[in-house]
Amino acid sequence: MHIVIIGGGFAGINLAKELTDQKGIEVTLVDKNNYNFFPPLIYQVATAFLEPSSISYPFRKFFAGKKNLQFRLGELQKVVPSENKIILNNGELHYDQLVFATGAETSYFGMENVKKNAIPMKTLNDAIEMRNALLKNLEKAAICKDIRKRRTLLTIVIAGGGPTGVEVSGMFAEMRKNILLKEYPELDTSVSNVYLVDGGDALLSPMSKESQQDTLNALTKLGVVVKLNTRVVDYKDDTVFFADGNTIQTKNLIWAAGVSAREFEGIPAESYGRGKRMATDAFNKVNGTENIYAIGDTSIQTNDPDFPGGHPQVAQVAIQQGINLAKNFKLMVQNKPLNPFKYNDKGSMAIIGKNKAVVDLPKPKMHFKGVFAWMIWLFIHLISLITYRNRLQTFYNWMIAYFSKDQSLRMIIRPEKRTKADA
Ligand SMILES: Cc1cc2nc3c(=O)[nH]c(=O)nc-3n(C[C@H](O)[C@H](O)[C@H](O)COP(=O)(O)OP(=O)(O)OC[C@H]3O[C@@H](n4cnc5c(N)ncnc54)[C@H](O)[C@@H]3O)c2cc1C
Repeated sequence: MHIVIIGGGFAGINLAKELTDQKGIEVTLVDKNNYNFFPPLIYQVATAFLEPSSISYPFRKFFAGKKNLQFRLGELQKVVPSENKIILNNGELHYDQLVFATGAETSYFGMENVKKNAIPMKTLNDAIEMRNALLKNLEKAAICKDIRKRRTLLTIVIAGGGPTGVEVSGMFAEMRKNILLKEYPELDTSVSNVYLVDGGDALLSPMSKESQQDTLNALTKLGVVVKLNTRVVDYKDDTVFFADGNTIQTKNLIWAAGVSAREFEGIPAESYGRGKRMATDAFNKVNGTENIYAIGDTSIQTNDPDFPGGHPQVAQVAIQQGINLAKNFKLMVQNKPLNPFKYNDKGSMAIIGKNKAVVDLPKPKMHFKGVFAWMIWLFIHLISLITYRNRLQTFYNWMIAYFSKDQSLRMIIRPEKRTKADA
């Protein structure tokens, strides 16, 4: 059986890993990047606290020596189900079973100016671009004599009060306190504001009321201005416009406000559910197809009575669906009955700053905050990284950052455009 997996994020890589050395199963994993990365920590790359290599790993190195696993660099363009074939940007592939594990992409809710001008927070490329943009704006502010322009350069607005928005704003507030004063003596930090805005009436909306309140208190104490019930409607001429008519002048609007899945040619329109996610049965088979599956953020399953609106788009769902589908493929090869997917909710957490985090556990229902929650967050994120090498590298960087309250990765590194004459 030849299984083609599109996407090597949490869902795809766990599916592939579980199928290693399985007799009768050949796997080809296709990804548009040649590496797997860990989205929950990209904000630390974006704020220059971690190197990109600490949270990413090349697929080919990961698959080396695993005889039934192959990697193919390519971007999926189209599926031809009648021929069991997919079309990539660089060729085509045949499959017996096809698995979509393509995740989600940033959604700007149709706001073209926001898409054009804001800084997204979804991929490793986004994180590197954000790091460069922010560092360049700091350098511009350092030589800017006009106080209004300087304020615009130093003001950061983060849209989206989920874990990413909370984590990024906490990080910026701490950087302002520990780094700006020291390294940019020419800057007046009183003109640098960090705003966290959200259209809803609470931060971390799926978490407990205690976590929401603790987070709001901790961010406010760090100097972050939190604006709830505040929806961004436009961003142009360095001005963020809100639905209530207010505006904020900034060169730095960070967009962590929404994701949506992507439709692919060849998949019937009626197979898509809410948020363009592929609707599946309890075995992750896409409705209306024979041998096409979808797992992780790109899929939606509404037959779990505990999650009638579909599972949340989080790492644990993607990991557990990848593992369950792998088990089912093994059962399929042996002609045995398959197991439906059942999500085991292990809780949720967010880090706010040094020694500050919130954790909610579902069973038994518990809430932690402060240093203990912060240690749980660090431990869980560390062990979730894909290899020992990533774990060691990240642990080392965190230790330096913890004791020195700083990092030394703030280099503006970007590819130089080569002219034709150089080539
Ligand atoms: C900034 C950020 C922070 C987050 N923090 C947390 C957190 O703290 N806790 C948590 O549980 N969840 C968090 N999440 C959500 C979590 O990362 C996702 O739920 C999880 O990554 C979903 O896994 P996935 O495998 O479905 O998709 P992804 O991990 O997004 O992987 C999709 C893969 O598909 C590839 N791909 C996409 N389209 C194509 C194509 N056309 N052709 C080929 N390859 C393609 C991509 O390159 C990628 O490798 C966060 C997400 C973001 C963006």
